Amino acid sequence: MASYQMNTPKRGNLSTPARPTCPNSISKVRVIIRVRPFLPSEIFSRNGNPLSCVSVLGDSSQEVTVHLKDQETSRNECYKLDNFFGQEDYNVNQIFQREVSPLIPGVFHGCNATVFAYGATGSGKTYTMQGSEELPGVMPLAMSSILSMCQSTGSTAEISYYEVYMDRCYDLLELKPKEIAVMDDKDGQIHLKGLARVPVNSMSEFSEAFSCAVQRRKVAHTGLNDVSSRSHGVLVISVSTLSKDGSGVFITGKLNLIDLAGNEDNRRTCNEGIRLQESAKINQSLFALSNVVYALNNNQPRVPYRESKLTRILQDSLGGTSRALMVACLNPGEYQESVHTVSLAARSRHVANFVYSAQRRDTLTDKIDMEAKLQAWLESKGKTKSNKKVGALGSPFISRTTPSSVKSTKKVDMWQRSAKAKAVSKQRISDLAERPQNVPDSNLVQNGGLVDPVMK
Ligand code: ADP
Ligand code: MG
Repeated sequence: MASYQMNTPKRGNLSTPARPTCPNSISKVRVIIRVRPFLPSEIFSRNGNPLSCVSVLGDSSQEVTVHLKDQETSRNECYKLDNFFGQEDYNVNQIFQREVSPLIPGVFHGCNATVFAYGATGSGKTYTMQGSEELPGVMPLAMSSILSMCQSTGSTAEISYYEVYMDRCYDLLELKPKEIAVMDDKDGQIHLKGLARVPVNSMSEFSEAFSCAVQRRKVAHTGLNDVSSRSHGVLVISVSTLSKDGSGVFITGKLNLIDLAGNEDNRRTCNEGIRLQESAKINQSLFALSNVVYALNNNQPRVPYRESKLTRILQDSLGGTSRALMVACLNPGEYQESVHTVSLAARSRHVANFVYSAQRRDTLTDKIDMEAKLQAWLESKGKTKSNKKVGALGSPFISRTTPSSVKSTKKVDMWQRSAKAKAVSKQRISDLAERPQNVPDSNLVQNGGLVDPVMK
């Protein structure tokens, strides 16, 4: 097994690397929704007639409007996203054909691409990415498609598979006593030192290597899902293609397929001890990922790749000429959880119509402003007389900078928190106010629920 080195020519004339010729030099991240069906046990517990909290209000060629409705309180919200895949029994194949397949030709031209499944635990991420033997997910579908393209182009494919657990990177193809060190060279390329690469020539070779590795992913029991994945699992398919310019150079592109660990609301999972720490790390890294996607989609001058190990590793595959797809997975019976996932997805996708400098404000003013707004938000959580109309996750700021979301709050929302949680949140908001200005304040608070270390 070879050591893993990203995006460098592997053979031929090493002194003159071929330039990637990507069909589309865009760095925007597409954000789509995938709703899983109700499971038999969920249908049973809802007397055989479960009602989905997710539907589509309208779509155009450019975007879809997704409607979330709480069947109990009739609270509802709308968000605009790039595409929507409903509860059909097998929508993974459609997602692959329409959204993932178009990313693959670029990989043969030396461009990187990333697909990540994001969502709460139990929302169908692993099902979407890995699938099962009978119904393969995006990972085996992509591998199969790449292998058949390799046959016609003469390219070769290799895989690596690693997990990021508690902000550390571990090889899953080849067990090693230590974590994988992440390094960047003088050209800004990321290197995962010693990460195994396995050549793959057929689907049976892939299945053999991959199924073993999948078993090694850290799984543990939580209150929400018996085999909840506690780490981000990243399958990298690297393709080396002889450059067409006759230089004898091989160019390498890679497709990162990521089954993210689920974001968790620790008040529901009853997590304690190590599970709570894991959850805090998971939520922090998901928040960092959303900041990166937001920065890319909004052409921010600084993309905060260094906020987490995962985003640091993905630095050469998110942004620039790379293309990326975020699949936000939803459980149709979980309204609040879905709001949490979709609001973050919509926020990541949202291309704000603003001039960057207009967002920069004096830090002190900003801090005071944030604290005042947080206070108003906390008050609106039903603990005081003032019961203002609020947006997703109850943030009073969202309508100001997220025109893609439209809300209606007929009843006070159910995210009422304890006095202790409020006090911690007050502290947290001071921290938030001092973060770099690359993300608008509203988004930080909108995603406050994600940063669960303070909301447990
Ligand atoms: P996550 O990885 O987000 O925690 P899973 O992928 O494990 O969630 O999915 C949760 C449950 O839903 C699993 O039992 C899975 O088999 C089931 N599931 C997800 N999508 C589908 C689908 N399209 N058809 C049938 N079952 C599904
Ligand atoms: Mg999973």
